[in-house]
Amino acid sequence: MGAKYETRGKVAVITLDNPPVNGLGFETRTGIAAGIERALADAAVVAIVLTGGGRAFSGGADIKEFGSSKAIAEPNLLSLIRLLEDAPKPVVAAINGVVMGGGLELALGCHYRLAVAGVDVALPEVKIGLIPGAGGTQRLPRVLGVETALNMIVSGEPVKSELLASLPGQKLFEPLVAGDLMTAACSFAETKAAEHAGSGAPLPRVRDLKARHDNADAYFGFARNMVKGMAKHFPAPAKCVDAVQASVGNSFDDGMALERDIFIALMMTPESKALRHAFIGERAAAKIADVPQDTPLRAIKKVAVIGAGTMGGGISMNFLNAGIPVTMLETKQDALDRGVATIRKNYESQLKKGKLKADKLDQRMGLLSTTLNYADIADADLVIEAVFEEMGVKEQVFKQLDAVMKPGAILASNTSTLDVNRIASFTQRPQDVVGMHFFSPANVMKLLEVVRGAATAKDVLATVMRTAKTIRKTAVVSGVCDGFIGNRMIEQYSRQAGFLLEEGCTPAQVDKAVEKFGFAMGPFRMGDLAGNDIGWAIRKRRYQDKPGMRYSKTADLLCEMGRYGQKTGAGWYDYVPDKRDAIPSALVVQMIEDHRKTLATAARAGGEPVLAQRKISDDEIVHRLVYALVNEGAKILEEGIAGKASDIDMVYLTGYGFPLHRGGPMCYADSQGLFNVVQTMKKFAANPHDDASFWQPAPLLARLAAEGKSFT
Ligand code: NAD
Repeated sequence: MGAKYETRGKVAVITLDNPPVNGLGFETRTGIAAGIERALADAAVVAIVLTGGGRAFSGGADIKEFGSSKAIAEPNLLSLIRLLEDAPKPVVAAINGVVMGGGLELALGCHYRLAVAGVDVALPEVKIGLIPGAGGTQRLPRVLGVETALNMIVSGEPVKSELLASLPGQKLFEPLVAGDLMTAACSFAETKAAEHAGSGAPLPRVRDLKARHDNADAYFGFARNMVKGMAKHFPAPAKCVDAVQASVGNSFDDGMALERDIFIALMMTPESKALRHAFIGERAAAKIADVPQDTPLRAIKKVAVIGAGTMGGGISMNFLNAGIPVTMLETKQDALDRGVATIRKNYESQLKKGKLKADKLDQRMGLLSTTLNYADIADADLVIEAVFEEMGVKEQVFKQLDAVMKPGAILASNTSTLDVNRIASFTQRPQDVVGMHFFSPANVMKLLEVVRGAATAKDVLATVMRTAKTIRKTAVVSGVCDGFIGNRMIEQYSRQAGFLLEEGCTPAQVDKAVEKFGFAMGPFRMGDLAGNDIGWAIRKRRYQDKPGMRYSKTADLLCEMGRYGQKTGAGWYDYVPDKRDAIPSALVVQMIEDHRKTLATAARAGGEPVLAQRKISDDEIVHRLVYALVNEGAKILEEGIAGKASDIDMVYLTGYGFPLHRGGPMCYADSQGLFNVVQTMKKFAANPHDDASFWQPAPLLARLAAEGKSFT
């Protein structure tokens, strides 16, 4: 795990060797430096070729080293680039595949760059809230021109090598190599060595080129305005503009110094920390502590979906999109017909918007079949049940599945609230049963909670996690509990939202505060979208199971008014037909006020303090809601329902519209300091109108706060 060294004739070849993408970790950097020194010391070597093993040249920094001292240990990337640049023998980058971030910066430090077509070229640092930190902002404009370079740096998106090589005047690549790259690179290197020895001219260095723009001030002014509009919550994109601007009209070293200052300052911003947390969290979520990475997987080539309703249709689309055939099963033909029609309608609307081509539509619909008969799905590798949310119906379905499905088939349930262990017990093969909790609309939402039953086999889990990747979901493992990770937490958040109404807020005030914090949607707009009747059904269950648990009655009163949300044309807000705009409702505000009066009357009658209406600040609104999530998250973590704090954050970032620039509830709590979180919770507990037991810090939170530690 470093870099390999060999000689081919008079050329030394250094091959980066750190799978999967030759991340520039400490061993790799040391290996490259040692290779360069060895090549320079060897009189028989006239030139050096630097290339990547496998499918990548280099994907950049090694994410395994993120945040560790190894990431910056010498030789760091800047020192390494200096070594290449100053080498008295020609150094040629032979770019065989992906060249991104630090990998591209390394290549830009070489004297020449030879590439093949089809290579993805990018400086993606902005995606983790940074700018390129090893000369990318200074060298890329020098070889591609200011505008192309800035586009690439601000977007972070990959561009194909053939496109870049075709730009007039570009100096990034020599003409692309059509044949064998290494043969071409070694021969090119030898030729350049001979030319160089003959002429005595200095070797070309990107730093010695000039970056120019005819109308620099106007262009950068324009770019800055564009970027400001696009990147509301993130400072990095505007800083990319500053850094690239420094490449024009300044000395290279001055530009580098500014790049460095900006990079270090961004590294400390909460936004970059949040983005890095999410980036690492996404990858970490795919790993399950006790399931080895090399667990053999079951093949998933055919899928069956039971129930062709809202979820069944959306779930099916995921697999059709990935080219996997799906059979939907229902009890009645008309339900199947409706399901198929909805899927077709969805694809047709994508077609109209230009997001899907006609042949793709036909291809996907061609992969879909339907049946009323279990025998027709017996050979599916994975079956996902999405029927009514009633244990009796689930029992019937799983007993039938157990009877017909081939051995080794994975039996998954999309239940949101029912006990997956109970569902597994309806079969003789509980090891093959797992929860796959998709979110609505299932073809759009990124999140998939994978619910691990007590008996779920490790290879079933590993296969489902892998399948999630195939259908481009972010999968997070949850243990079995009521609501799993996401909905169990949101219940506490909703309870607080209800208390806020009783204490003087309007739904619009709460939503506005939460949306200003960065949530895609406040709790009441979310309720109207999801359907307020869902929460009502859950509360009715709670009134039986946990009679001591306090809820605001406002949400029940709303449902009693028939205001279920957008689907009934009225909820917490009023709606105009065919529009989604939430219009504050005088009727609802009146209902809330009447309810407050009822509470006051009851309090007086019971000799309890009467709730004084007060103006509640946005800050209090946000923290009551977010810390409600955090406290329940801490319990979930302690109970082992979630394997790690970042899993909880991934659930909230991908399934609940939590603001990305805050990194998820647990990351946000860490950024505030857990000591402060606990202090604030104590203040909330002292509010006579809140629920003191609600604000009892979870034992894990209390312990971490006392020890000065954090969740993530
Ligand atoms: P839905 O009412 O839209 O669809 C259910 C479908 O199942 C109907 O078409 C019905 O005909 C069919 N069905 C009922 N019994 C059946 C049986 N015995 N065999 C075959 N088909 C049968 O419901 P939905 O919203 O799609 O929810 C389905 C499941 O997904 C539930 O478990 C629900 O909790 C879960 N879920 C729903 C959402 C959501 O937002 N709607 C989100 C996540 C999970």
